[in-house]
Amino acid sequence: MSSSRSWKPLPLDTCTECWSASTTLKRCSVCQVSMYCSSACQKKSRESHERFCVSAPSLPTGPPPAPIAAVQVSGPNFEPKAITVPPGHPVWSQGSIAPVSQFAGIPLFVYRDTDKKEQNQSATYMMIAPESGLAPLRWDRAGTVTVVRADHEPLTPVALEMYWMFCSKLISMCPDDEADAQKMCNPNDFQAFCREYKEGGASQEYKEGEGSMNGVGALVALASASALVLAFARRLLYG
Ligand SMILES: [Zn+2]
Ligand SMILES: [Zn+2]
Repeated sequence: MSSSRSWKPLPLDTCTECWSASTTLKRCSVCQVSMYCSSACQKKSRESHERFCVSAPSLPTGPPPAPIAAVQVSGPNFEPKAITVPPGHPVWSQGSIAPVSQFAGIPLFVYRDTDKKEQNQSATYMMIAPESGLAPLRWDRAGTVTVVRADHEPLTPVALEMYWMFCSKLISMCPDDEADAQKMCNPNDFQAFCREYKEGGASQEYKEGEGSMNGVGALVALASASALVLAFARRLLYG
């Protein structure tokens, strides 16, 4: 089973390797996540891509039959809100798969609620490509986003928090330990990360606010700093 809609490139989707935007990109035939403008770019990307590429899961086609628990995220950092998304919501037809999420075993569709360019660092993190730890420019200052599970399972703010913290960890490993970060993009390593995160009471610590810059707070700050630098560099190159 495959969703013909969600696997077509959207306007502004970009080549995983050279970041050029096009609506004629070709997806990796195995995972159907990474997209390329040419076979030359696919070849260049192969070594890193093979560290995590696995067959695409069979996801339901189209929206779920009934409303489902989802999460809306806004703000410069992670400000999640539990919402219920109806079958008619555009996330089901126009949402983009979050690349790392599919490999981690919790496939997520992310949808920009508006065209407003507002800081939403967590949306940028969620959309990083495992090849580079970078997100395409359309996910820089993405404003408020709606996130659903592409497999029609309910999504909670806590589950999404763990996912974006996982992405944050991958970002902090790039570019020095890029290969290790790419090898971590699988369900087992994601589950291990979630267990550690819960046991460490990290979620609680994060909720204490920006005042506590120890533990996870420090990790967020570190990752934010590097992501901002990378976003700035991308703007110079491709803006
Ligand atoms: Zn390319
Ligand atoms: Zn692939």
